Amino acid sequence: MKIRTRIAPSPTGYMHVGTARTALFNYLFAKQNHGEFLLRIEDTDTERSKKEFETDIVNSLKWLGLNWDEELIRQSERVSIHKEYLAKLIENKKAFYCFHTIEELEEEQKNQALEKISFKHECEHKDLSLDKALEKLKKENAIIRLKTPHKKITFKDLIRGEVEFDTNLLGDISLAKNLDTPLYNLAVVVDDHETQITHVIRGEDHLPNTPKQILIQEALEFKQPEYAHLPLILSADRSKLSKRHGAVSVNEFARLGYLPKAMLNFMTLIGWHPKDDKEIFNLEELVKEFDLERVQKAGGIFNIEKLKSINNQYIKELVPAEIAKFIAPYLDMYNPTEAQLIKVAHLFKDRLNTFSEIKDLASFVFALPTYEIKLLSWKDAPKEKIKTNLQIVLSILENISEDSFDIDTTTTELMPKANNIGRGDLLWPLRVALSGMAKSPSPFEILDVLGKKESINRIKKALEKLNES
Ligand SMILES: [Zn+2]
Repeated sequence: MKIRTRIAPSPTGYMHVGTARTALFNYLFAKQNHGEFLLRIEDTDTERSKKEFETDIVNSLKWLGLNWDEELIRQSERVSIHKEYLAKLIENKKAFYCFHTIEELEEEQKNQALEKISFKHECEHKDLSLDKALEKLKKENAIIRLKTPHKKITFKDLIRGEVEFDTNLLGDISLAKNLDTPLYNLAVVVDDHETQITHVIRGEDHLPNTPKQILIQEALEFKQPEYAHLPLILSADRSKLSKRHGAVSVNEFARLGYLPKAMLNFMTLIGWHPKDDKEIFNLEELVKEFDLERVQKAGGIFNIEKLKSINNQYIKELVPAEIAKFIAPYLDMYNPTEAQLIKVAHLFKDRLNTFSEIKDLASFVFALPTYEIKLLSWKDAPKEKIKTNLQIVLSILENISEDSFDIDTTTTELMPKANNIGRGDLLWPLRVALSGMAKSPSPFEILDVLGKKESINRIKKALEKLNES
């Protein structure tokens, strides 16, 4: 038997990181068993489903490198198949038409709420003969329900162990609005069966659907797949992860400049622990080491600091030319040259948690920020002293040829003077003149990135400021 799993998102929003993690676990489980991983778009809810979100799901999975096998399946294109099974259930008297109106059902729900019962509808219309029901259907609306048997259902969840449900709590489950409009649980069961899904791995928010789906499988005499319900992803305050905690959709993480490799690595560690303390895994290693039975039952915490640190580790492994490509979009407005981008990449690679951070870190390289004149002063040094020291620096730098204007040369030329005069006194005003900022990389690193001409310009600008004040 070939292992087959699926990710089955509804295109009603951008792909949430929780859905992406479910996709990842399905992918890892299928691949480690030499099986297949399918993508099914559950778009039967025509009011809420949007093409834009389907495109986002496809792009997000591709960006992560979670490539699915076979053609993408659209549930809305399978309605005729759902219809066949529905008709069969009605014919076999396992399903029936329920003629209760929405108002009647709401009334029933209200009464049950007063008795503190969660809503279920046990419908007496199941006793109508099919002929009578079809006659009635000519004049009245009806939905199709399963004749829910009264019994206990147990199934073995690969993460939670044995789970038991009492079908008395379910009532007669709704299957379809009519033969051409299947509802969620029916469509899922039919599609999983038709595409030979062997393992249903999904979020624990689907747990209440499982007994309903098992009953439908039994009515249709389908083989029951194995189930694994994954713990939800929680925010640091243990509430459900949502937009108010920051980025939650895969496309947002992509835009912020996270690497897909880092995302995959990080998502695997939410709710799953490897046997040892290893933290950095590539996709192949994950396929080998991931173990569904080691997924914890309790909710997994989404620790953004951990994601940043993992991303930082992956960025540090890249060479500056690769980083240059990733940071280019965030510095677009400055029209940087490739050589500049590579220098900036080299300078900041160890500090970058995400590529988007480059904008705050490196903008000063392309456009000198305006700064307060007093920032040039090291430990309240008087203006005259700053001017003198900047003049000294200027004349030293002007004597270095443009070709040899690099970190080594500027360090060799300036350091003896700095040691002589005082490092802070000489290097602080230089660093501020070059960066315009209270905090920045060392003046030697900035000189290297800016090059001789721009460095000299900025020092002269600082001197002008001092003269004018
Ligand atoms: Zn009814």
